[in-house]
Amino acid sequence: MAYITESGKKLITVIPGDGIGPECIESALRILEATGAPIEWEIRYAGASVFKQGIESGVPQDTIESIRKTRVVLKGPLETPVGYGEKSANVTLRKLFETYANVRPVREFPNVPTPYSGRGIDLVVVRENVEDLYAGIEYMQTPDVAQSLKIITRKGSEKIVRFAFELARAEGRKKVHCATKANIMKFAEGMLKRTFEEIAPEYPDIEANHIIVDNCAHQLVKRPEQFEVIVTTNMNGDILSDLTSALVGGLGFAPSANIGNEVAIFEAVHGSAPKYAGKNVINPTAVILSMVMMLRYLGEFEAAALIENAVLYTLEEGKVRTGDVVGYDKGAKTTEYTDAIIANLGKKPSTVQVRDYRPIQLPQVPTDPVFVRPQTRRVVGVDVFVETDLLPEPLGHTIEQLVAESPFRLKMISNRGTQVYPPTGAITDVVDHYRCRFLLRDTAGEVNDAQIFDLVQRIASRFRWMHIEKLQEFDGAMGFTKAQGED
Ligand code: NAP
Repeated sequence: MAYITESGKKLITVIPGDGIGPECIESALRILEATGAPIEWEIRYAGASVFKQGIESGVPQDTIESIRKTRVVLKGPLETPVGYGEKSANVTLRKLFETYANVRPVREFPNVPTPYSGRGIDLVVVRENVEDLYAGIEYMQTPDVAQSLKIITRKGSEKIVRFAFELARAEGRKKVHCATKANIMKFAEGMLKRTFEEIAPEYPDIEANHIIVDNCAHQLVKRPEQFEVIVTTNMNGDILSDLTSALVGGLGFAPSANIGNEVAIFEAVHGSAPKYAGKNVINPTAVILSMVMMLRYLGEFEAAALIENAVLYTLEEGKVRTGDVVGYDKGAKTTEYTDAIIANLGKKPSTVQVRDYRPIQLPQVPTDPVFVRPQTRRVVGVDVFVETDLLPEPLGHTIEQLVAESPFRLKMISNRGTQVYPPTGAITDVVDHYRCRFLLRDTAGEVNDAQIFDLVQRIASRFRWMHIEKLQEFDGAMGFTKAQGED
């Protein structure tokens, strides 16, 4: 798994990052050095400094080469340009190396007071890390209407679900919740739910529960101690894991790992917090604990426990605490806090314990691009999306005339997912982006491409169209949803 140097040490890539990143990374590396763990590192760059050199991805080639070699990265936060232009260098790194599992543990820390102190919060959010809305496939459909594709695959779901169960086993946890919005997004979010329910019986030693994600957020605020592992889709996980970090003292205490079959990237959940950059006041714990996760991933369990115990001891002792815990007027410098942890290496806290960890068995999911093979499939119709300022009734009549001589009949027209033609009695606002659903008049037949091209030509003679979608059946099951109000 790891690259071994000539001196027999494990080599990692370190990316200091932007803003407070370099201070956090320096703190973590000083502690690592003090343990004498057999780790060497090479420093590489990504993020703002790289964007400024004109490298659009924010990740230069020598950083990519280093990661390809070492396969293990400790990384500071990278600033993301907001809005237009460059993509997030973070997302680029996660996707370049297919780190499909984002692992975000939170636990209650001694002497870090929160409204939840004393309840023993100790849970992990396992977030799918490459798919979902973060696939970044977006289009302006009309000047008024934006679309972002939410991609969830069976393969991606299987990998993340198996990973969550394996993680539970490696960490001696007994319960996994799967949090989805499958009640609304039956295909996309439902994919994770169905996969979870299929795979759970393979892990009879672990209790498996599905929970609707909004209730999960509610339950996390109300009774967070009921959760051990939460597996969820990318967007849900992004939000839930920020919520869970707040339960135990904020982003300064929230570590994370991005794990794939080939590469693992360890980083704090927090960003570059630019207002604190260079001030030597921030809390480096999140990066230190990310490094602890990295050490466990590398099989360095002893060094990991040594550092985690020293962090817990330092917090428990309470003599040296950072500004985010006690207020920036009273807080210790980042370097003082780091010195205290180094001085406490070898000591153990008395009120909390470091968990027993076993090496995680990364799930072996086949890499075949075709993951699900249906026995039968059939195209039963087409959705054509058009841009027009017509209202639904005149639009419906015009389209019906255009397709009168074709093999298709207009089944319905929807606007933002609600049927507006034929009218259903619904009172809805409309925008200039309509979905026109066509089915074959011959209900037993199958749509062919020539028919689709002819249909598009008919519609294009009168309307601007911007995309088409085949309506497919797989093994007899509808592979498309109905509009609100569609019979
Ligand atoms: P942020 O950098 O996480 O900071 C938000 C707030 O969290 C800070 O103002 C501070 O709270 C607190 N905080 C974060 N880290 C802390 C630490 N180590 N010690 C103490 N307090 C800490 O979020 P942001 O301001 O939204 O994002 C800034 C930049 O970071 C953006 O460019 C964003 O895209 C990027 N980012 C990168 C990553 C990553 O690299 N993985 C992740 C998230 C964001 P108070 O103000 O309450 O003191």
